[in-house]
Amino acid sequence: MHPSPSDSPFLGPARPVDVTVVGSTNVDVTATVPRLPGRGETLLGTSLLSSPGGKGANQALAASRGGASVRFVGAVGNDDAAPTALSHLQADGVDLSAVLTREGVPTGTALIWVEDSAENSIVVVPGANGSITAQDVDRVAERGGLEGVVLLQGEIPAEAVTRVAERAPGRVVVNLAPVIEVPPRVLTAADPLIVNEHEGAEALRILGGDPKGASEEEVVVALLAAGVPSVVMTLGARGALVADDSGVRATPAARVRAVDTTGAGDAFVGAAAARLAEGADLGAAASYAARFAAGAVLRAGTQSSYPLRGAELPELIA
Ligand code: ATP
Repeated sequence: MHPSPSDSPFLGPARPVDVTVVGSTNVDVTATVPRLPGRGETLLGTSLLSSPGGKGANQALAASRGGASVRFVGAVGNDDAAPTALSHLQADGVDLSAVLTREGVPTGTALIWVEDSAENSIVVVPGANGSITAQDVDRVAERGGLEGVVLLQGEIPAEAVTRVAERAPGRVVVNLAPVIEVPPRVLTAADPLIVNEHEGAEALRILGGDPKGASEEEVVVALLAAGVPSVVMTLGARGALVADDSGVRATPAARVRAVDTTGAGDAFVGAAAARLAEGADLGAAASYAARFAAGAVLRAGTQSSYPLRGAELPELIA
């Protein structure tokens, strides 16, 4: 039997990797407009930019810039957008040998309108990201592709996320962003589960808890009690809460003049995974991640704002 064009081309690791990201890759097409268009209205935009995005690809780039050797497992269409979607990962030396090319579906695309006031409207077409199946994951897993720290988000189908969590032989890190309905066993495999305030509350609900009226710290404690091995809750410029069996502690943020916080969450998650893969403890990984994310908010853009390997990073507020 000939493999269909959507079968994984992955033949096994060419070199060992520290972090494997299984997730989404998009092209973000951003038009600046004098104001957001109304229903049925046609407006003239003033600029147009295509840039790589998608939470999986963003986090893979952050892990790579954070010093890890990274494999990205995802799917693109057989179209002109695919090379753009993967361009930063390719330039950074991320292993793309397990990326699927799908016929008849577009590369994931985010269409973004931004007003001068910075208010925006976004339409995301998942395209090939939505086509990743549990069987695709099985093929990569059978060939030893889920290596090192395995990092997951919520921009590919829940069945694929679930299968990765079941089959990854090593440490699994789950960033439940956006929130998707995964079985509780995905969350109880997450070491750590990385969430913001809203995602943390939703994760607790999936685990059968009631986040109503609970403080951020109470949600984190309840997640641990519900069986999540460790939790990091990011709190924007307020930093993060880090929790495991030695308790809950706060990691400060760096005090920086933020230019654009888009993609700060992804920068944090990818950088944390890079440090965990090196053997850092959770607190040290979160502190490094906060410095890396602070470096990313200093510049406009998402992937293009991520600090280069070895760049000096802002210090945390004591
Ligand atoms: P997004 O989806 O917009 O990327 P998020 O809610 O997933 O955001 P945040 O909690 O906003 O993630 O940010 C992640 C981390 O980035 C924070 O824990 C913090 O360390 C860092 N960070 C974000 N915003 C700032 C800021 N203004 N100044 C310093 N650090 C920041």
